[in-house]
Amino acid sequence: MAQSTIEWTDATWNPVTGCTKISPGCKHCYAERMANRLKLMGQTNYRNGFEITLQPHMLELPLKWKRPKRIFVNSMSDLFHVDVPFSYIKEVFAVMRQAHWHQYQVLTKRSDPLLQLSSRLQWAPQIWTGVSIENEKYFSRIDDLRKTDAHVKFLSLEPLLGPLHKLNLRGINWAIVGGESGPGARPVDPAWVMDIRDQCVRAGVAFFFKQWGGVQKKKTGRELEGHTWDEMPQLAVLS
Ligand code: SF4
Repeated sequence: MAQSTIEWTDATWNPVTGCTKISPGCKHCYAERMANRLKLMGQTNYRNGFEITLQPHMLELPLKWKRPKRIFVNSMSDLFHVDVPFSYIKEVFAVMRQAHWHQYQVLTKRSDPLLQLSSRLQWAPQIWTGVSIENEKYFSRIDDLRKTDAHVKFLSLEPLLGPLHKLNLRGINWAIVGGESGPGARPVDPAWVMDIRDQCVRAGVAFFFKQWGGVQKKKTGRELEGHTWDEMPQLAVLS
């Protein structure tokens, strides 16, 4: 797969593609836009557009990458989608254990199945796991994540659509924050971002500010009060 332009990762790996929308953060899903574009371009992995599609021929890709990378798992899908069989999730985990020189960033909005399946999965320190939260209504995803057996737990607070006062950061190693970007981007209030940063600093949680977003995200950049925040989980520095 590809080198990534996403600020908090090195590469993307998509053993599954496609998804369905489940909460307001999905409204302008980048993966949906990209999948439909790739389908029009005739890319075979996207022949089904944004429908959930297993890509077993992609499973072994991390084994071929000999240099350690941070790998965003399923940037174009959600591994814990109901249409992804548990046997297949176990295969993805097996590869992540086997290609142990990488760090894997598994990100989901489906924290219920993540928690339900957690005890039946074989975890390893390199398998970081995170949940996406766009507003306070979805705080329960953090509670679910906290109860899993993932060694490194992280939050993707993007697209940030409201204030997140009183985040419970117990057991959380890393938080990424970002405003929405692209056509129709919903605005982010700087006060929301600064509040989350301050909560992370107080709790000793690594904080990563990805972007302000907006229709042209290059113009708005990613500085927060004159600083770039690129912290990573201290438990898991790539050797
Ligand atoms: S969960 Fe993620 S990939 Fe799936 S529709 Fe929502 S934003 Fe897109």
